[in-house]
Amino acid sequence: MGDRSRSAVDAVERGIMAVEDDPLVDSVGTGGIPNAEGVGELDASMMIGNTYRCGGVSCLTETKNPIAVARKVMELSPHNMLCGEGARKFARALGFPPYEPVTPEAKRRWGVLMQKAGGEESKGAGEKWAQAILMLSRSGQLGAHGTVGVLALDASGLIVAGTSTSGPPLRLPGRVSDSSVIGAGTYATPAGASSATGEGEYAIKYNLTRRVCDLMGEGHSPTEACERALKEMLKIERKSPFMALIALNSAGTPGGATTGGSFSYYYERGSERVVRVTPAPLSA
Ligand code: ASP
Repeated sequence: MGDRSRSAVDAVERGIMAVEDDPLVDSVGTGGIPNAEGVGELDASMMIGNTYRCGGVSCLTETKNPIAVARKVMELSPHNMLCGEGARKFARALGFPPYEPVTPEAKRRWGVLMQKAGGEESKGAGEKWAQAILMLSRSGQLGAHGTVGVLALDASGLIVAGTSTSGPPLRLPGRVSDSSVIGAGTYATPAGASSATGEGEYAIKYNLTRRVCDLMGEGHSPTEACERALKEMLKIERKSPFMALIALNSAGTPGGATTGGSFSYYYERGSERVVRVTPAPLSA
């Protein structure tokens, strides 16, 4: 961090908000493609490794920065996670103003995808809808998944993880993203912090970021920990889902791994060192 008066919590929040506020990023915050009913539902979470304090919001609507609300859940509520209407009410009570995250361009692209999926009348649950979404997803027509994950270690030794997403396009209303689930999309311990992107259902099933932090606690490097966690998943899953993990340990060493696709992460330490890395895809 350049500004030494700010903590790792601020760094994670600010870093994620910059992406949430970018209308050109179609899978996070403003500009994210909405759910099957055209509603922008946003998910985010944050965790402080040193204290295990954490907060998350799932399916938050009409709010600009889900990561800022997740931080408040962590700092000001007696709970770890809030969802849907309750999360929205909590945000309003804390002064977050009503905000429409679905931009005209996101709505236009949603309309095109809805047509491909069989039109608005077929939206929602049911086998026909599930098949249409699967077909669009497998043929790459739904577009890329996307999430922003930020991990930070500050001068005082505070280590923090945060994650935010608007989820995959046309997801069912109420679908909970791993990005809001502590242990799935976000986790941190005194040993390190981790964030996940990809098919969130798998991060939830295998508690991937929790696993990465445990492995770092056992002495594995961040990259080894990410690779092991993904390999363990690939041993069980027949098909190879797209998942990518990043990690940062308490010594400030970063790492990452992916099951495939293009994936890179950005690392900065002080003002002079900037590194970009694209880990090779893994197999079981
Ligand atoms: N993990 C996110 C989700 O499933 C999406 C992504 O990272 O691409 O909601």
